[in-house]
Amino acid sequence: MSGGHRLTEAEAARLLEATGRDVWAVADCADRLRQERVGDAVTYVRNQNINVTNICVNACGFCGFSRKEGDPDAYFFDQAKVQEKAAKARERNVTEICTVSGLHPDFTGDSYVEILTWIREAAPGIHLHASNPMEVAYGARRSGISTAEMAGRLKEAGLGSMCGTAAEVLVDSVRSVICPGKVDTATWERIIREVHALGIPTTATIMYGHRETVADRVRHLTILRSIQDDTGGFTEFVPLSFIHMQTPLYRDGLARAGATGREDLLMIAVARLFLDNVPHIQSSWVKLGRKLAQLGLVAGADDLGGTMYEESISRGAGASDTEYLDPAEMERMAADLGRPLRQRTTLYELVPS
Ligand code: SF4
Repeated sequence: MSGGHRLTEAEAARLLEATGRDVWAVADCADRLRQERVGDAVTYVRNQNINVTNICVNACGFCGFSRKEGDPDAYFFDQAKVQEKAAKARERNVTEICTVSGLHPDFTGDSYVEILTWIREAAPGIHLHASNPMEVAYGARRSGISTAEMAGRLKEAGLGSMCGTAAEVLVDSVRSVICPGKVDTATWERIIREVHALGIPTTATIMYGHRETVADRVRHLTILRSIQDDTGGFTEFVPLSFIHMQTPLYRDGLARAGATGREDLLMIAVARLFLDNVPHIQSSWVKLGRKLAQLGLVAGADDLGGTMYEESISRGAGASDTEYLDPAEMERMAADLGRPLRQRTTLYELVPS
């Protein structure tokens, strides 16, 4: 379908607008390209989340997770609690601990360093996949240092890779409505480039299905593709379908009720076709549910994401069944498609079974 050339923005937009049986044609093309590029294995990572606090100075309209200090369900884990959870992760044999939290009003850059240090002490050797450009910007601002310096401090504290979240949709007219308190597009891109320049790989994400247009989605993909051309720092692309139920954005009529199944499959397929420099595309069972996530694996995706012990962000927005997916169930999903399941590390090395 790409006819041997790099897809243009106009072509990607046309593919995202496919309807009827054309949806299967786009998915088929993406699935063939997936097979050619990365083979048939369906991968997953054994991981656990530790969201240290849900108290946040921001109030992003799509977020059902954050709370203000004093709210009845606001929480904050101290060192003992974080270390207890990290030790539990170790017992569960996870290879990755993922930690991203609310922007607590008392946090400084040191707080983010401390959290990584606590986890490292309690779970030595486990890959730390943590933070994102928003946390880097916040920590840097609170400590009066540059974002590059902040990222460097996280690396010294043991950060193995960073979450490419807080990207949402990299179009400022959309960001100004859905997350006005977050870094703008240019700042997100600058920080990701700084992080990659420090040798810290990141994921790449999009959070779609709220109020953005097809053109906005394609613009976002173009920014990711051009960063990857320059840095090669993205390990995978993770499309995050908007979970609308318990979000202010949806309640206030500023967003629609999430993407449709057609849009979800096309997001995966077009990402595979357009992001020709990103090797892995994830079909997120947390966002799509198990059945649609399985179909994402025949629409261009090669990865199911993580086991996700203790997921709480999508749950906060109203998603159900987000807390843990047993690899045995992933095995069933992959085998049902005639594909092998393989455990991977965060950086996509296969773990011997
Ligand atoms: S998305 Fe992150 S920054 Fe925005 S309100 Fe939620 S926790 Fe805070």
